[in-house]
Amino acid sequence: MNVSEGRGMAEFTQTARVLSVTDLTPNVRQLILLPTTQKLAFQPGQWVSLKLPVGSTPPLNRAYSMAVPASPSGELTLVFDRVPDGLGSRYLSQIRAGDELLLSGPYGNFVLPQPPDRELLFIAQYTGLVPIRCMLKAMYAHRETVPVLVIAVGPAEDELLYHQELLSLALMRPSFRYLPLVASGEESAVALTVSMLSQLVNDRSKVIPMLCGTKRFVRPLRGYFVETGYDRKDVKTETYD
Ligand SMILES: Cc1cc2nc3c(=O)[nH]c(=O)nc-3n(C[C@H](O)[C@H](O)[C@H](O)COP(=O)(O)OP(=O)(O)OC[C@H]3O[C@@H](n4cnc5c(N)ncnc54)[C@H](O)[C@@H]3O)c2cc1C
Repeated sequence: MNVSEGRGMAEFTQTARVLSVTDLTPNVRQLILLPTTQKLAFQPGQWVSLKLPVGSTPPLNRAYSMAVPASPSGELTLVFDRVPDGLGSRYLSQIRAGDELLLSGPYGNFVLPQPPDRELLFIAQYTGLVPIRCMLKAMYAHRETVPVLVIAVGPAEDELLYHQELLSLALMRPSFRYLPLVASGEESAVALTVSMLSQLVNDRSKVIPMLCGTKRFVRPLRGYFVETGYDRKDVKTETYD
């Protein structure tokens, strides 16, 4: 396909070589990829589409958010959790350094508001933290920013992603707050998050909510913000399913 046609560069599919495979938690793995044809210019929060050679009608397209901002090396850091019986994540689980993957992108508009002018409230369900971690890396590579609160819900204590990193950030940056929560199942994850929110954002001064996770997590939480007086469009969301 001529990359200048249609929706343009973003549709261009290329091979990427897997440089490394690292476990971040017992159930979450990081892949570092290097696209072989051209570097991707992307904003923190964006994702790529992997075209996986599995399923009844391959390729199986699966989206993965970049966990690290764009760098001169062109490397892409992707992070995924192993979904029980998940076709895509099962395929990715057997990928090794030296293997190749097909991808296109970048895509997506779950990105930092420019400029953020109020406190940012990130709420992540498990690997929903990945694009948020990328935004945090970009923000804290620079000067002090607006206050940030990250609420991260994981399925178990040892499945809290980037836990040490976020604890350290909270120690180093007075305006950064980190609230890790453990809940299994979307319903209890939502309930626990809401119970925390009612204490944390009850002062009527508006924050910028940015939510990422599955629909059953993100939708009720967006509903919570709308009920407390936010415009729907002011609640930024990314859903993974
Ligand atoms: C814009 C976008 C960005 C994404 N970024 C990431 C990312 O950075 N890391 C990542 O792990 N996944 C990400 N995903 C989800 C990813 O594309 C796949 O959906 C996920 O890996 C499951 O695919 P599967 O084929 O293994 O499972 P499927 O057979 O498609 O089963 C999906 C089911 O597994 C459950 N599930 C458990 N964990 C996840 C999860 N992480 N995402 C979706 N469903 C899940 C849900 O209940 C869902 O119904 C993203 C999705 C979108 C749309």
